[in-house]
Amino acid sequence: MIRALIYDLDNTIYPVKSISDGLFDGLYKLIDDNADGLSLASVEAAKEEITRRPFQKVADEFGFSDELKEEATEYLRGLTYSKPMQAYDDYRYVKTLDADKFLVTTGFVKLQNSKVKMLGIAADFKQVYVVDPDSTEKTKRHIFTQILEKYNYKAEEVLIVGDDPESEIKEAKAVGIKTVLYDPEKRYTAADADYRITNHRDVGELIL
Ligand SMILES: [Mg+2]
Repeated sequence: MIRALIYDLDNTIYPVKSISDGLFDGLYKLIDDNADGLSLASVEAAKEEITRRPFQKVADEFGFSDELKEEATEYLRGLTYSKPMQAYDDYRYVKTLDADKFLVTTGFVKLQNSKVKMLGIAADFKQVYVVDPDSTEKTKRHIFTQILEKYNYKAEEVLIVGDDPESEIKEAKAVGIKTVLYDPEKRYTAADADYRITNHRDVGELIL
């Protein structure tokens, strides 16, 4: 029996695309102004990646200068989102699932918390965790383990639901928790996780 569900936030509960245009304008300008040595194609690819993955990883991968990394990090530390946000339509099923629910998200703590607030979803979860690479070496797997210990769940009593095979799916596998890949756009194959769903409703059958 599944007693707990651990959800990712970005692109699992709401589409990042719905907020990224306005949200990252300031950051995109900083990148454009400090892009010496980067090709135009790299700059555009990096901007796209930033909407999906932690800034630090993207910055390293695309070879941002130390100066750009520092300026951008400073900017992102203070960034919040304060406009209305809309969860995916099928998020409503998450609310009805009969299990303890946790939210574990990676990103700058102020920004992630502002998104949780604007989505109005904090009350749907027993606890919300923000893993901020800016202030901790810990990753999601540490939080997953922490949840198991704190609430006395066995690994087989928990499912992780997320959109990213390289993030929560990989991290959950590393600590022996079963994984559910939320893939509404069918970008991946079933091989990337224990289960693949295209609608949050489908978790209902997995927790019986
Ligand atoms: Mg995500």
